[in-house]
Amino acid sequence: MKRIRAVSNFFTVLMLALCVYLCLYSALSYRKLFDNDYNGRTRLLSGQNRRGDIYSSDGYLLAHTAAVVDDTGNITEKREYPFGSIFAHIVGYSAYGRSGIEDLEDYYLVRSNISLSKKAEYAENSEKYPGNTVITSLNAMLQCAAEEALRGYRGAIIVSEPATGRILACVSKPDFDPNTIAENWENITSDNSSGSLINRATQGLYPPGSTFKILDAAAFIEQDQEAAGEYSYECTGSITRDGQTISCYHGDIHYTVDFTDSFVRSCNCSFANIGLLLDRPKFFRLLDGLYFNRPLPFDLPAAISRAPKEAGSDADIMQLSIGQGTLVMTPLHMNMITAAIANRGIMMQPYVIDSVVTAQGDDLTVFHPRELKRAMSSTAAEMIASMMEETVLGGTARGIRNERYTAAGKTGSAEYSDTGSQSHAWFTGYAPAEDPRICITVVLEGAGSGSQAAVPAAKHVMDAWFDTH
Ligand SMILES: [Zn+2]
Repeated sequence: MKRIRAVSNFFTVLMLALCVYLCLYSALSYRKLFDNDYNGRTRLLSGQNRRGDIYSSDGYLLAHTAAVVDDTGNITEKREYPFGSIFAHIVGYSAYGRSGIEDLEDYYLVRSNISLSKKAEYAENSEKYPGNTVITSLNAMLQCAAEEALRGYRGAIIVSEPATGRILACVSKPDFDPNTIAENWENITSDNSSGSLINRATQGLYPPGSTFKILDAAAFIEQDQEAAGEYSYECTGSITRDGQTISCYHGDIHYTVDFTDSFVRSCNCSFANIGLLLDRPKFFRLLDGLYFNRPLPFDLPAAISRAPKEAGSDADIMQLSIGQGTLVMTPLHMNMITAAIANRGIMMQPYVIDSVVTAQGDDLTVFHPRELKRAMSSTAAEMIASMMEETVLGGTARGIRNERYTAAGKTGSAEYSDTGSQSHAWFTGYAPAEDPRICITVVLEGAGSGSQAAVPAAKHVMDAWFDTH
């Protein structure tokens, strides 16, 4: 009897859970339900409306549905992407499944909110109603510059506006042409396509290498600002603790370094030492608060950056301090953290849509910047900002230094092969240093050192921005 009651209780709980789940599901994901390809309503709408346009914030058409007459004289529709592969990942596609902004804003794109009198005009001409227009935050000029900088590489570049979180450019390589995705689907998804559908800027997980020193520095300053100010270390080229040896990049020896020198010259030994000085529970709380091991608040699919939740040994904390070991991050996440430094400690929510308007130009939805949280004290952000400026003036990112504009940044060369002989090149930074307008993060897979590969790519994009601003 007891057993039967237990079983029936179990099923009651299960049923209740299912009910709650279904209610929550339909309440929270009405857009998802709507988006379901099998939903008859979608088919109905696509028979009635022509899918809306997608524009860049600087007025370029990124996606458009054109009527085409096929061989048999029938009128069909074709989704066209005037920039070809340049916006492939971020704008996405809608021909063979959906991705990117095409998927995110499908709800609006398939609907037409033009006035009834306008609808009557279209109906009179037996034309479909024009769908709503999505205006993205993307800047076509910057996107093209970022795509140029990535040519010949695999990797990603993401550019944002620090004060607002607006994404200005987002490029991933290898890429694909969304105009021909249906025809080329087999090729694109085959084993040797190197995952060209993946948006590496938001879904690529890479060891951050020395760019992670930004977070060590934040933790160290927050822990004891005075100790950071008085810090001094004797670099001999390597440090061994717990059977783990950390070396400085390319066998460099930095000799006596203070906190700023350690950062500007990216001394691994000194940062392994700083890692050992950190209050570990506090450090892991800081990482937890900055979206490690949890989803980023971002509307498009993004991978979760993984960091250890506690350091088992000194060896672990030394590896973590130089951005190696089990730590992996997305370029988007690194960009958010860098933008928070530029923004004096305030982290903004990244977003890609400025507004949705009807085909007549009336606003339907306007997106506003949203503050996520204070990532660190303004003192810590300002100290790190000045060290990042020094890094451009005379450190590992001096390749950006120029007469036209100031910049701030941090490089990284993140080892990923078992032998440690190959590394991903990173740069993350912003410009101008005194009034940050663009924040850029670059990752080039297997391209070697951040200084030699990622810095020139970042400079190419910054130059393009300052050419027009
Ligand atoms: Zn060193």
